Amino acid sequence: MLGQDPPVAERPNSPYSPGFIDLHSHTSESDGSLTPEELVRLATETRLDALAITDHDTFTGYTKALPFAREAGLDLVCGIELNTKLFSSDRRQEKSVHLLAYFPGGAPSTEFVAWLLGQQEERRRRNRELVEALRHRGVDISLSEVESRGRSLAGRPHFARILVEKGYAATHGDAFERFIGEDAPSFVERQSITTEDAIRIVHQGVGIPVIAHPIRLQLSRDAEENVLNRLKRAGLAGLEVYHSEHPPELQAHYRQLAEQLELLPTGGSDFHGRAKPNVRLGTGLNGNLRVPLAFLDGIRQFAVKH
Ligand SMILES: [Zn+2]
Ligand SMILES: [Zn+2]
Repeated sequence: MLGQDPPVAERPNSPYSPGFIDLHSHTSESDGSLTPEELVRLATETRLDALAITDHDTFTGYTKALPFAREAGLDLVCGIELNTKLFSSDRRQEKSVHLLAYFPGGAPSTEFVAWLLGQQEERRRRNRELVEALRHRGVDISLSEVESRGRSLAGRPHFARILVEKGYAATHGDAFERFIGEDAPSFVERQSITTEDAIRIVHQGVGIPVIAHPIRLQLSRDAEENVLNRLKRAGLAGLEVYHSEHPPELQAHYRQLAEQLELLPTGGSDFHGRAKPNVRLGTGLNGNLRVPLAFLDGIRQFAVKH
């Protein structure tokens, strides 16, 4: 029926629009449900022009996906998502901030990889100590049980699940309250990096640091601008303007903010597969996402200049 449908390129959120990409996704190497190979297949079926794999704390998913992407002719971008702590300027309050890092050259520096291994070792150390502390309280959990569930992210949520399954705790909340939460006697702290330090390390590692899903900062407009300016001084390069959790008015706000602060706009669905069943690769939540290829061009141009 000629004249009824707008041309494909003008249809918003159409997965067949040209220059359609996704710069935020997870595989089963962190907390996603698709293997790297399956994710590449889905990206190809969705007709994405480019995909960044941004697993938490690991490049394994990207590395495993690379040969499949090459075979499929998919432009695969190397990325990672890091958990950082953002302190208020008086250092009294802290927030958890997710930092994305893109390595458009394909590989981080050996120093960055060594730093990442140190982070993973710190996570393992904490988990080992937590296993030990729980054992003293008569709880039988092994490190391998926790690591088989959590992969690169093995941590307290996985302990909680096992505590419930084994009948030590009634619920997830109960497990945190009595065993692994900050006020529980068997709590073991994990050293975490500040957002500013993580930004510097990404920079030194030839990566491009980007604040992920800024909606989760839960800051007032003024505070948000102050924080982003502060992080920009530390070397922040980009802001994730499009994300499944950003409603259209916030996408417009972040796009404008990125422009005003001269931060690279980026975007992605934060696809996790079955772990977040309503979020689709490339199109986000109910089609609320359409990330233009120009964003990736911006990242690549930035990398050449810096
Ligand atoms: Zn995140
Ligand atoms: Zn993510």
